[in-house]
Amino acid sequence: MSTEPIPGNPSVDSSTSDFSPERRAAVLVETLPYIQRFAGSIIVVKFGGNAMVDENLAARFAEDVVLMHSVGIRPVVVHGGGPQIGALMDRLGIKSEFREGLRVTDAETLDVARMVLVGKVNRDIVSSINRHGSMAVGLSGEDAGLIRASARNPELGFVGDVESVNPAIIERLLAEDLIPVVSTIGADLTGQAYNINADTVAAALAGALGAERILYLTDVEGLLADVDDPSSRISRVDLTGLAALTADGTISGGMIPKVQACVDAVEAGVGSAHMVDGRIPHVVLLELFTDLGIGTMVLPDGGVAADGHGVGVPDDGVDGS
Ligand code: ADP
Ligand code: MG
Repeated sequence: MSTEPIPGNPSVDSSTSDFSPERRAAVLVETLPYIQRFAGSIIVVKFGGNAMVDENLAARFAEDVVLMHSVGIRPVVVHGGGPQIGALMDRLGIKSEFREGLRVTDAETLDVARMVLVGKVNRDIVSSINRHGSMAVGLSGEDAGLIRASARNPELGFVGDVESVNPAIIERLLAEDLIPVVSTIGADLTGQAYNINADTVAAALAGALGAERILYLTDVEGLLADVDDPSSRISRVDLTGLAALTADGTISGGMIPKVQACVDAVEAGVGSAHMVDGRIPHVVLLELFTDLGIGTMVLPDGGVAADGHGVGVPDDGVDGS
């Protein structure tokens, strides 16, 4: 068998081409129940963390989104861009001030954030998806009234909270078989723009769209019982369990809005929320189409994932594997 990469499919390297035809077929057939289960459903994917700043991982992410779309799933991508905003602020010599982990956003900082998110990060994601066909459409929360925002705290400047979302524009794009890619800038009634945490926006959108699942790509293995111990990943947790972890200080920094977003999404009726390691190439495919039990799954109280996801994973809340 040839060990050359398959033409036109750079992610399939020689090691996978070495698989026997039987093994390759078996892998494909194993995905069948998952593909059937998710066909037609909306899955919101928040793209962030390392995956977004590593070109190779970003290309694998685009392939995953295109594959989801190709098997009848309706993906909606929501992205952050904190590191990219920080990098341009540095290049421009603008100092960032942080209060309780949130960047104080004056008018100049908001301009930079909006330029980076809408003009650069969003465009890069759209173009990497559209290398595989013309499917992705980029939009900002300011477009067609998608995200109505309000100031969180005047001391933080133009840092916004989600006041409401109007998913009509997303639904129209999905009805046209397109893939929406959303930058999380929102606007208030006067048109004033605000920068909003992408985790929060993704949850609000997933709830409003009646999404089946929400996936958060991050830069750690998942939710960790000990943030300094990568082997302490919590594989499954319900809302009561999350409240306890929040109260005892297990969750800090960027995990605070992410965990709150998972709670919001599940409370809004999203079947399950998943925090997965964006450093793993093709983590979205692994999470959706295998029973590997990757990352941390957040379920409603007493809930069993409708798809039985995670069955076979120890249910003691901590899975060190
Ligand atoms: P992103 O939003 O791009 O996924 P963030 O930096 O906002 O990334 O959030 C992820 C970070 O949260 C991790 O890199 C980690 O430093 C921090 N964190 C705090 N507490 C925990 C925890 N209990 N488990 C995992 N990560 C945690
Ligand atoms: Mg974050």
